[in-house]
Amino acid sequence: MKTIGLLGGMSWESTAQYYSYINTLVKERLGGLHSAEIVLLSMDFAPLEAMQAACDWEAAGRLLAEKAARAEAAGAELLLIATNTMHKVAPAVAAALTIPLIHIADATAARILTEHSSPCVGLLGTRFTMEQEFYAGRLRINHGIEVLTPPAPDRAIVHRIIYKELVLGTISESSRAEYIRIADDLAARGAQGVILGCTEIGMLLRPADVAVPLYDTTRIHAEAAVDEALG
Ligand code: GLU
Repeated sequence: MKTIGLLGGMSWESTAQYYSYINTLVKERLGGLHSAEIVLLSMDFAPLEAMQAACDWEAAGRLLAEKAARAEAAGAELLLIATNTMHKVAPAVAAALTIPLIHIADATAARILTEHSSPCVGLLGTRFTMEQEFYAGRLRINHGIEVLTPPAPDRAIVHRIIYKELVLGTISESSRAEYIRIADDLAARGAQGVILGCTEIGMLLRPADVAVPLYDTTRIHAEAAVDEALG
């Protein structure tokens, strides 16, 4: 079994889920008392969030690259950046590593493409993830997936709920209702499924809440890491 490097803390709420999913999957696949070998490097989210808000992606890239190299030095044999948004700086992180970086959008695209040959999906995430090319563009250009995002006022709602509630572990029924409405709108526009493109959204939106399938990037990313770790 390879040692999985987990660059987490973005937020720790979703990193805790990654830790649980990865260990559960290893236990399911290997049985008995098996559990995953993980190097977890969990970051302080506050300074990083300030860099995001200031769009200082260069500083954020330097910071994550330095942490990723530390995870590799500690024995990680593959690495996950445990957030969608910070894949904005995935190239800087990959450049600091000699081990593979499993890109969350590629893992998610691979899952979608096992179910649909010419997919059209909705995308929910931070405004960075929904609006910038590093994520939706990668799905479109590298994987041929058509991506729908909510209209601007709804993108603002989705973004606000992530930063004001979900990364703090707050789950509210009114926010769940907003997310259901927004996901339903994407489905009504033709989305065959909705990507939970933020690692905390799976804590709020559950499969039974929406008529179309939900692609939970936290679970999918964790599963891709276990596939790679177990070979
Ligand atoms: N975990 C979130 C994501 O998947 C948002 C927090 C962050 O900005 O990293 O995008």
